[in-house]
Amino acid sequence: MSLHGSDRRDTSSAGGNGMVAAASLRLRLNPNKEHKPDGYEDLQLDFSPNIFSSLERYLPPSMLNVPRDDKAKFMREILLKYLPLGERSRSQKHREYRQKIIENYQPLHRELYSVNSATFFVPSFLRAINDNTEQSFRSIMSEPSPGIFIFDIFQTNFCELLLSEIENFEKWVTETKFRIMRPNTMNKYGAVLDDFGLETMLDKLMEGFIRPLSRVLFAEVGGATLDSHHGFVVEYGKDRDVDLGFHVDDSEVTLNVCLGKQFSGGELFFRGIRCEKHVNTGTHSEEIFDYSHVPGRAVLHRGRHRHGARATTSGNRVNLLLWCRSSVFREMKRYQKDFSSWCGECSREKKERQRSTIAATKLMHLHAAVPANIIVVPYFPLLFTPLSCEHESIQICSIIIIAHNSRSPHLHKINFKRSCVHACKLHEMENRGNKVNEGRVKGSTAAAYGCCNSEVEVNEEKRKNWERER
Ligand SMILES: [Zn+2]
Repeated sequence: MSLHGSDRRDTSSAGGNGMVAAASLRLRLNPNKEHKPDGYEDLQLDFSPNIFSSLERYLPPSMLNVPRDDKAKFMREILLKYLPLGERSRSQKHREYRQKIIENYQPLHRELYSVNSATFFVPSFLRAINDNTEQSFRSIMSEPSPGIFIFDIFQTNFCELLLSEIENFEKWVTETKFRIMRPNTMNKYGAVLDDFGLETMLDKLMEGFIRPLSRVLFAEVGGATLDSHHGFVVEYGKDRDVDLGFHVDDSEVTLNVCLGKQFSGGELFFRGIRCEKHVNTGTHSEEIFDYSHVPGRAVLHRGRHRHGARATTSGNRVNLLLWCRSSVFREMKRYQKDFSSWCGECSREKKERQRSTIAATKLMHLHAAVPANIIVVPYFPLLFTPLSCEHESIQICSIIIIAHNSRSPHLHKINFKRSCVHACKLHEMENRGNKVNEGRVKGSTAAAYGCCNSEVEVNEEKRKNWERER
């Protein structure tokens, strides 16, 4: 590497302290926007080629024009520092594993290893992607159940070439007795396409074709920011895997394309989208959807859409799976608790909360004349812990009352028993030591609900005194 010359001089002129190597191993704070980065697609690296191209603009100025291999080595060392030790050695082992395969396996159809739109895709799919509008996407697909999109994607010839490449790879595996890793813990058969050279092609498939669709169809699960993938084939049949249990994918968006061949059975069954917390909850009738595969046809769905595959009863079925992931979405998800924008169960819970709030508000208006100084706003259980009811069998509705006739409005949460609205829970609140603004709560509530009549005067008096003191 040629970084030492100029950097050494820089450091010593600034009163260098002998930390030349460490100092020179630092990236710039701001990218050099004028610099045109190299492509890294053809190198076998532990990280996505895009990461290298993006990072290159942050290299120290003296490194921008050194040979590409040196830049890749330098950036790889920096990136590895961000991986925990266990992950680093796993990543290193996996890299060596892939390297071994790629050095020894001779591809049969080289034309499959880089995307050729005209020979890969059917014209209708290409037109929709080129138009790049929601309308054009929807014009080529059906959505037989919410969140499940079905459309024709690959030409028959492409499917046949890919099947023959996979067969060739498996023949090589058998002949060389090479121990390959299977695509996931659920399948005993099948192969990871990324492991024998198809990673770059699949990256392009995701970026250029699946991400535009997902940006529109799955925006709330990171569809616009898909940035890595796991690409593999699964094989079902008499001497292969038979069926696949009920599960969710380790992906934000899954593309599942049937490549062939002749088969019966093997239907996919879908049972609603769920977050981690709700993954084992029951299915509602409107979430049940079964789908029969057609070669060349794609099914696109959220990874969290629960599904499984029924037994393939005769013949052989091979499917291409592309699990597309978004690191941005995964990072954001760690800080969220409510997934009602996509989880069926979170959404149902939210609707139920809204329903009880509306019911409570209606009940209040029904049973009480609301004075001008009271505003009723919905009750948010996430912000307030509900008080328990002494009559546990009676459902409680909760509301918040804001008394706004003072200099600073205050929030008061009060629980009412549904069956006896007039018996407000003031006394219980008092017993729990909730004495802040006591006079005001009592005054407002008493006025609004006509309960605790004996206390109205006292508390109105207290309230007035309190206002005066301020
Ligand atoms: Zn949920």
